[in-house]
Amino acid sequence: MADCLAARLTAQEEQIRLLTAEISALRDGLNGGTDRAAVAAVSPELDSLRAENEKLRYRLVHLRRGLQAELEMEKEKEEAQGRKPLAEPKGGRTPGRSTPKPQKTDSRADNMVTVPVPDKKPMEKNKKEKKQDKGRVNGGAKELNPWPAYVPERLSLYEQLKEESDALLAKKAADSKPIIVELTDGQKVPGKSWVTTPYQLACGISQGLADSAVISRVNGELWDLDRPLEQDCSLEILRFDNEDAQAVYWHSSAHILGEAMERFYGGCLCYGPPIENGFYYDMFLDGQKSVSSTEFGDLEALCKSVVKEKQPFERLEISKETLLKMFKYNKFKCRILNEKVTTPTTTVYRCGPLIDLCRGPHVRHTGKIKAMKIYKNSSTYWEGRSDMETLQRIYGISFPDSKMLKEWERFQEEAKSRDHRKIGKDQELFFFHDLSPGSCFFMPRGAYIYNTLTEFIRDEYWRRGFQEVASPNIYNSKLWETSGHWQHYSENMFSFPVEDDVFALKPMNCPGHCLMFSHRPRSWRELPLRLADFGVLHRNELSGTLTGLTRVRRFQQDDAHIFCVMDQIESEMKGCLDFLRCVYDVFGFSFQLYLSTRPEKYLGDIAVWNQAEKQLENSLNEFGEPWKLNPGDGAFYGPKIDIKIKDAIGRYHQCATIQLDFQLPIRFNLTFVGKDGDDKARPVIIHRAILGSVERMIAILTENYAGKWPLWLSPRQVMLVPINPSCEDYANKVCKQFTEAGFMADADLDSSCLLNKKIRNAQLAQYNFILGYLSSPHVGQDPPYTRDAQHGAIITSPVVPAVASVPPTDEESYTSKCPSGGPCDRLPASCIQCNHRYNCTYGKPADFSCKPKKGVHCVGKSGEQQSNFTLSIICQFCWQLNTSAYRCSNPTNCMTVACPRKRYNATCDVFDHVHCLGNRRFQKRLFCNWTGGYKWSTALALSITLGGFGADRFYLGQWREGLGKLFSFGGLGIWTLIDVLLIGVGYVGPADGSLYI
Ligand SMILES: [Zn+2]
Ligand SMILES: [Zn+2]
Repeated sequence: MADCLAARLTAQEEQIRLLTAEISALRDGLNGGTDRAAVAAVSPELDSLRAENEKLRYRLVHLRRGLQAELEMEKEKEEAQGRKPLAEPKGGRTPGRSTPKPQKTDSRADNMVTVPVPDKKPMEKNKKEKKQDKGRVNGGAKELNPWPAYVPERLSLYEQLKEESDALLAKKAADSKPIIVELTDGQKVPGKSWVTTPYQLACGISQGLADSAVISRVNGELWDLDRPLEQDCSLEILRFDNEDAQAVYWHSSAHILGEAMERFYGGCLCYGPPIENGFYYDMFLDGQKSVSSTEFGDLEALCKSVVKEKQPFERLEISKETLLKMFKYNKFKCRILNEKVTTPTTTVYRCGPLIDLCRGPHVRHTGKIKAMKIYKNSSTYWEGRSDMETLQRIYGISFPDSKMLKEWERFQEEAKSRDHRKIGKDQELFFFHDLSPGSCFFMPRGAYIYNTLTEFIRDEYWRRGFQEVASPNIYNSKLWETSGHWQHYSENMFSFPVEDDVFALKPMNCPGHCLMFSHRPRSWRELPLRLADFGVLHRNELSGTLTGLTRVRRFQQDDAHIFCVMDQIESEMKGCLDFLRCVYDVFGFSFQLYLSTRPEKYLGDIAVWNQAEKQLENSLNEFGEPWKLNPGDGAFYGPKIDIKIKDAIGRYHQCATIQLDFQLPIRFNLTFVGKDGDDKARPVIIHRAILGSVERMIAILTENYAGKWPLWLSPRQVMLVPINPSCEDYANKVCKQFTEAGFMADADLDSSCLLNKKIRNAQLAQYNFILGYLSSPHVGQDPPYTRDAQHGAIITSPVVPAVASVPPTDEESYTSKCPSGGPCDRLPASCIQCNHRYNCTYGKPADFSCKPKKGVHCVGKSGEQQSNFTLSIICQFCWQLNTSAYRCSNPTNCMTVACPRKRYNATCDVFDHVHCLGNRRFQKRLFCNWTGGYKWSTALALSITLGGFGADRFYLGQWREGLGKLFSFGGLGIWTLIDVLLIGVGYVGPADGSLYI
């Protein structure tokens, strides 16, 4: 890397020298430089070269320093541990980089004892070659004619080697011994070593299984179905529904695409891995040629013909030297051979005319790929490095069934309509600018979402004993050397010279928090110390990999580091898990948990690892949600819990992480004075984040909600639509009241716009509530417009009053605050504690699991003592209850007054044992009107509550989702904040007396 940079630097310096010479020549020729324009035209180019050169020079210094430090460290480590040091994964990919889904089988295949496989179908192959010839003549699919010269050359070398290897295998097969193969159901079947293949055994079980099999797993390793078994082993047949099999399936499809690309473009193939959604293949095309999406049809036709030919995937192990000869036409494959292949031999696979360097395994033959689609292309760099060659990348997807492909296409459409980049633009939430790629500009509405999310987490921090800190953005590179980031991650950091030193923008908060911990002596009494930081982070992602908010250069995390002792890990983990459940429940995400344990290469004491892993396991078990084990998948510095959330359309995202770290405290020499007086006690660090990157979480939420934000998060909560100019003042007034109460409210005062149009606009803008005629009620018109965007309906009144689950018949008997011995669901709200599962949907019945508070005893329906019970209510507000569920200071309603156009005010309190959402005390305002035998009423239920009055957390818990959350703000557990409810106007039929919307 450093060498390559140095070479570029020299080349550019040469260029600069030449350009400067040219400029002075120009100047001389212009007689004292009267024509400055010509000079000016050259100088920007010169400037940019100079600037780039400066950057290169700087990066070179960097790299050299990094390399130096790394070498020294490795030496140290080697000396200290007598063990090979840990390094970044092969290929130097760093955590933040875009890495294609690794071909899981590779490392395993690497260790396989590889043996040539007999060519099972020589006849078929010959036939195939004939067919190909035919194909090239009349074809059907367009392709190069003749094929690129390297194809036949490669093939003839292969044929020769294949013959030798077949002979060898035949010899082995002749010495075959009986073996026992254990199937997944425990059944043991006999076989013959070097003869029996997994496919043959699958056929023995059932033809259906054999037909649908994608790949097999032999003793835990993925294994070609036609590759003979070598010894006693366990065997598992995998179908497409298995994740590993899917990767094999897609990887095999990539070979088909690769074959088509060679036959169509004739360039040099590079990497062709499976990814989350199918696969891609990179190709280097000479000159300026690039791939166009108009060629997809031709490529697909070629792929189809490859599939039709059912080309078998043949495996062959070849020495590195021979391979270098075989791939001499392709410098990329040679690079892979020289840089990545550390063994004396490796494998190639053949399908049709394509012979590809690959560790496998694959499906049996190309005919297994039933439905295939090419859906995208892009240009990229060799190994993602912008200083390397530009490559053309083509993406595809394939399935064993065309119905699955159709399903996938539908899903893509759905995902496209939810794309956060589109919604972000439509709703004016955020944008990106070329002048700062990867750093998002959040517009006011987007910033509202951003801040609401961080505030939400901040509230939880307060409650959960986290302390928020603020730490610097730039640090001397020495900090990163101590933390180890410089050695492995400096390429991903923005760094720059400051005076005589190199500084860098922080890509993570942990090292800064370590400085905070070590700032003064610490005592065990301070632990666990939970430091939270919303600090701005920068990572130098390659510009080619930046996508919307999901991969950015500038972001913030809800990042926190918990410094604790070993014994506290379990309880801290429990706290973290509970925290994330609470947050994800609010968003409505379900999630999956994975415990990743000690990898092969790890640092530290094995006893410490075991103890920590045990604690993680305990905390997961106690947490009560199912979890999976990912053995060996932990980081080298500690085990971790990975969490994947599932969004509304079934996609999984990884956001939260909880990660133990034994190494960072050692690197920073963090100590505290232990209980026993030991002043060198070492803390453990837990890195954790729940939203992860706030930017990325906004992308996920935008797509999850498809732009229909839940009220608490919505950047457009209330739209006031006055019917005519005479109502405008009133609309403004109401709008101001909403705004003062903390709502995102707007009034549409555009008088050129008709009411219906205004409502439509507001609907399209996804306002949660649209409040129509706010002043004098209209007679004979449609009912008023109150739209509950959450549930897609325009609520036209009359609104059915909410029903509390318990008919308030004998309220008199319920006089004391927490009566013991009565039915549980009749207990007053303040006497019970209910869970915070926020699944309350407006107008629908909702169940909450509750328990009575300490010292309160209650019974179930049949009189038995209960400690847990379910409370069922209709998810509506207190002020929407039937009038018999509350008591008011003024019993007036429109039915009881004779006088039209009169206002009535009342303060109302819900009876203790009636459960509802929002404030239990509210203001009722009635405005009654008399017209033609009908009574109309305009009612505003306006409840402004200041200060804490006896509501409890149960109600507070509901505010984050749906309509129910309109009313309680704060979330600090005390009702110090203002609740405002002010919603619209309603029509009330003659049968009902009043309406509170
Ligand atoms: Zn392959
Ligand atoms: Zn961290």
